[in-house]
Amino acid sequence: QPTVGVLALQGDVREHVAALERLGCATVRVRRPDELAVCDALVLPGGESTTMARLARSFGLLEPLREAVAGGLPTLGTCAGMILLAERVVDGAEGQETLGGIDMTVRRNAFGRQVASFEGAVTMAGLDEPVHGVFIRAPWVEEVGPGVEVLARVDHGEAAGRIVAVREGHLMATSFHPEVGGDSRVHQLLVDLVRPRSRAE
Ligand code: GLN
Repeated sequence: QPTVGVLALQGDVREHVAALERLGCATVRVRRPDELAVCDALVLPGGESTTMARLARSFGLLEPLREAVAGGLPTLGTCAGMILLAERVVDGAEGQETLGGIDMTVRRNAFGRQVASFEGAVTMAGLDEPVHGVFIRAPWVEEVGPGVEVLARVDHGEAAGRIVAVREGHLMATSFHPEVGGDSRVHQLLVDLVRPRSRAE
């Protein structure tokens, strides 16, 4: 199994580490460039995207992360992590920085106040059974470029039709938190993106 890093500046790091360990992956909590360098894949957790970007800058990690993501490191971003992977953010904080990588526009805190947090079954491309999606002040994807594969949309309620999971090449992102509740199938999709060559190194 590959070594998977979890960006550990802020956010729900522990839950992702647990989801990856259930798959038998070695895990690294990434706070420094040398920790990033040993990873075959990376998870950007949920939390606060502005705080994470700010901490990444002060830890000297922002540019190494941008280079890793642009350079082909398989990466899964969840919730705040989705925002970090977006090329464009609507309703972001002033001067909000991202890593970019996925040709998409995300709307931060998109789900309205009443449904700021909700849970529900999400049907996701590549998985036979729906995922239990936990949405917490989650973004949605407003718009994607032609190279982006839509993996999931909300299928009921006011937000029906909104895109909540995408993949572009080696990069994957979900609006929801797939790491809670003992299900590691979305993390398995990330592991599947790791090429055998990088595993053997
Ligand atoms: N609202 C948060 C942000 O904008 C994301 C929430 C989450 O990750 N649960 O960064």
